[in-house]
Amino acid sequence: MSISTKNIAIEKITNSRIGEVDFNNLTFGQFFTDHMYECDFKNGEWQTPVIKPYGPIPMYPSAKVFHYGQAVFEGMKAYKADDDSIWMFRPDENQKRINISSKRLQMPDFPEDLFFDGLETLLKLDREWIKKGDGNSMYIRPFVIATENGVSASPSNEYKFMFLLSPAQSYFKSGSKGVKVLFANEYSRSANGGVGFAKAAGNYAGQFYPTHLAQEKGYQQVVWTDANNHENLEEAGVMNVFFRINDTLITAPTSDRILDGVTRKSIIEVAKDEGIHVDIRKITVHEVEAAAKNNTLKEMFGTGTAAVISPIIGFGYNNKDYDLPKQENSYADLLRKRITDIQTNKAEDKFGWRYKVKE
Ligand SMILES: *Cc1c(COP(=O)(O)O)cnc(C)c1O
Repeated sequence: MSISTKNIAIEKITNSRIGEVDFNNLTFGQFFTDHMYECDFKNGEWQTPVIKPYGPIPMYPSAKVFHYGQAVFEGMKAYKADDDSIWMFRPDENQKRINISSKRLQMPDFPEDLFFDGLETLLKLDREWIKKGDGNSMYIRPFVIATENGVSASPSNEYKFMFLLSPAQSYFKSGSKGVKVLFANEYSRSANGGVGFAKAAGNYAGQFYPTHLAQEKGYQQVVWTDANNHENLEEAGVMNVFFRINDTLITAPTSDRILDGVTRKSIIEVAKDEGIHVDIRKITVHEVEAAAKNNTLKEMFGTGTAAVISPIIGFGYNNKDYDLPKQENSYADLLRKRITDIQTNKAEDKFGWRYKVKE
C-alpha cells in the first residue's frame, strides 16, 4: 500500500438538508447527504482531495466522459450499529474492483489509502444521515470520470474520482414479491474480450433499451445469455444470477463477460457454510427450461449490493412462460438473512467481512 494520503480539504455546509428527507419513505438513490468527496487527477497524479457541499460540478461540454464514455463506478453500503459505530461490508473488494474497472477503460488507479481515508472521513462527517435499525443503510457511490476537455478520441489525461452517499432502506420494505425475467435471445450485455466484467457506466446504457422492450412484454428484467449462442445464462439485469435445481445452487463462473459480484461470492461462501451444495459451472437455458418442466427448478434469484437477493418468480423464453412454485424454506430467504445479519452485526462475523470505520 502506497502512502500517498494527503490531507483532505473540508468545506462544510452551513445548513443541513437532513430535515427535508423522510427516512421512512426513501426512494432508492434519490437523496444525497450534505457532503460529497472529490479528487482530481492532473499532471499524472491525484491532487489534494476535497469534501464539499453536495451540488453541481462545473465541467466543460467537451469533457471526454460525455463523448467517449470513460466512466466507471461502484456500489457499496455502510451500516450504523446500536453503539453508533459505522460498519462496511467487504469494502476492500469494491476498492480493488474500481481499479480493475478503471484499468480496462485506460483510466488511472485510485490509491487504496486515499479511498479509505476519503470514504471514512465523508461517512463520519455525514453520520447523522446513517440511520440505525432494521433495513437502514447508507448506499455509497464511488465513481471516476474523464474530465479533460477535447473531443480527440484518446484517453483523457484528467479524471475526477468522487464519493456520493445516499441513504437507503431495505428493498424488501417496499414489498417486492419478486420479478419476472426474460431470457435474452437477441440482445447481449457483454461479449468475449469486452468490458462486461468492469463496472463501466456504458454497460448500463447498453442494457436500457433491451430491458425496456422486455418490460413492454410484461417482464421486469432480462437475464443475459452469452453473445455467441444465447445459451449460457450469465447475469440477471445488473445482478449475478443463481438457480436452485433440486437442492443444488448453480451459478455461472465469472469471466470477462460477467461481473465478479461481492454479493455473489459472499452467497457462495455462506451457502457452502449452510451445507448447501454449490455448483459453479455453465448453466444453459435448455437445462433451466427442462428443470422448470419437470418441477426440479425450485428457485432463481439475482444477487447484488442494492437488494442483496432479488427473487425471480418466473421466466420467459422463446414465447413460452414458466412460473416458479412458491418455495417454503427458500434458499433466497435463508441466505439473505445470513448475509444481512452479518452486515448489520446481528450474527458472528465468521468470515471476517465486516469493516469498522475508524473513529
Ligand atoms: C454491480 C453489479 C453486480 C453486483 O455486484 P455486487 O458486488 O454484488 O454489488 C452484478 N452484475 C453487474 C453487471 C453489476 O454491475
